[in-house]
Amino acid sequence: MAMWDKENLWRSVVGELEVSMSGASFNSWVRPCYIESIAEIDGERVLIELACPTGYHHQTIDNKYYSQVKRAMESQTGKRVELALIVRQREMEVEKVVVDNLFAQKTLEPIDDREILMNTGINPKFSFDNFVVGGSNNLAYAASKGIVDMPGLRHNPLFIFGGVGVGKTHLMHAVGRALMERGLKNVKAVTSEQFTNEFISTMRSKTVESFKKRYRNVDALLIDDIQFISGKESTQEEFFHTFNELYLKGKQIIMTSDRKPQEIEGIEARLVSRFLGGLTVDIGLPDFEMRLAILKQKCAEIKVEPEEGALDLIATNVNTNSREIEGLLMRLINLAAVKGTRLSKQIVEEELGVRATATDKKLRPQEVISLIAKQFEFKNKDIVGSSRKAELVRARHIAMYILREEMGLTLQQVARLMGRSDHTTVLHAVDKVSREFMINQELREQVMKVKQELYH
Ligand code: ADP
Ligand code: MG
Repeated sequence: MAMWDKENLWRSVVGELEVSMSGASFNSWVRPCYIESIAEIDGERVLIELACPTGYHHQTIDNKYYSQVKRAMESQTGKRVELALIVRQREMEVEKVVVDNLFAQKTLEPIDDREILMNTGINPKFSFDNFVVGGSNNLAYAASKGIVDMPGLRHNPLFIFGGVGVGKTHLMHAVGRALMERGLKNVKAVTSEQFTNEFISTMRSKTVESFKKRYRNVDALLIDDIQFISGKESTQEEFFHTFNELYLKGKQIIMTSDRKPQEIEGIEARLVSRFLGGLTVDIGLPDFEMRLAILKQKCAEIKVEPEEGALDLIATNVNTNSREIEGLLMRLINLAAVKGTRLSKQIVEEELGVRATATDKKLRPQEVISLIAKQFEFKNKDIVGSSRKAELVRARHIAMYILREEMGLTLQQVARLMGRSDHTTVLHAVDKVSREFMINQELREQVMKVKQELYH
């Protein structure tokens, strides 16, 4: 039985169509397709399945080029062809060629931050270059890179979920930036809250048409924190239609959320099923290696060189998301700057060592007061008394600060222990110490010393 090789047949069909169609429509609509299967029906007829990469390709071929494609197939096979169109995407290697033909621009052109900022909503701070890849995000990363190679053609939509501060927004915006560098003109990034607010205000001002135009003509739409459309029915309705139109046109959609589509409450089932129609990936908390890599990355960004081992120590002792790691690093760098030194292991130990053990030991408040009295060489009754002597006031403030911040007592409890009738006194004392802590080295040393005593 005579059988045709799918790729060879398609190549000769493409060859024939190439000369009879206009270059632009040929490249956009026919070239991205491929033959999925060929089956002989009988001696005279074959059934050929033609795979179209998107619903929009499917629709266009069906409406405009169906008989032309069919005729070319018949002339190449010498059989009568029953042509069936399906929506399916090619394997990776072959797809690459497709995309190169779909987009005029083939290489990534570095793009100016100002250009990124213009009307796109993309934060120019976030790029692939400063995104650290590790075990907790490598799937999301790979999917995102895949999108840059073939926007709209695979992983559409891409749904990225995970807890706060793990890098969802960073990664999504990095894709947005790379797509612009790839030559996509109209990339739009918004939070679902912005989408909602804009939609509601255009409804009020009766300018919904302009809203539609704005959102339905983009080349790629990036929606952050999609979970916020929960319970907002008219927004969901509008988003559903926006989604469908973009999807049918083969435009890339990316969403982020703090949970899986199925777990977002108060959102229509038809939206959930759209969200699940592409690829869903999660980002988890970074492991040690990644925490260390993130710390290094941030130091390099702000051109800070910590002493050997300092970053290791941080990475070992904090088990949290990237945002908090970044925040902590900044705090430590500030502390070092205030001390006029580089960020060292000692600084990290002082800051974290104490904090890490703070919750382990149970101390009674009275012991804390005794300890502070001893350290400052006062009597307990002086600490809780009312003398305004500067040294005494300082010790008293530190006692209140420790009781409140370290021991977690309420303002009222601290006030009672310290013999104050008004808890606002405590509030002011705690505030004062917190503020001065960063800039007053002597005070910081005194507090550190108390903390060390407390937990030894
Ligand atoms: P999310 O959107 O998940 O809440 P973000 O994307 O806003 O988190 O990330 C929080 C902060 O952590 C940002 O400053 C971001 O640059 C940084 N960050 C997160 N993940 C990474 C990573 N893999 N590499 C470098 N920085 C990261
Ligand atoms: Mg975010």
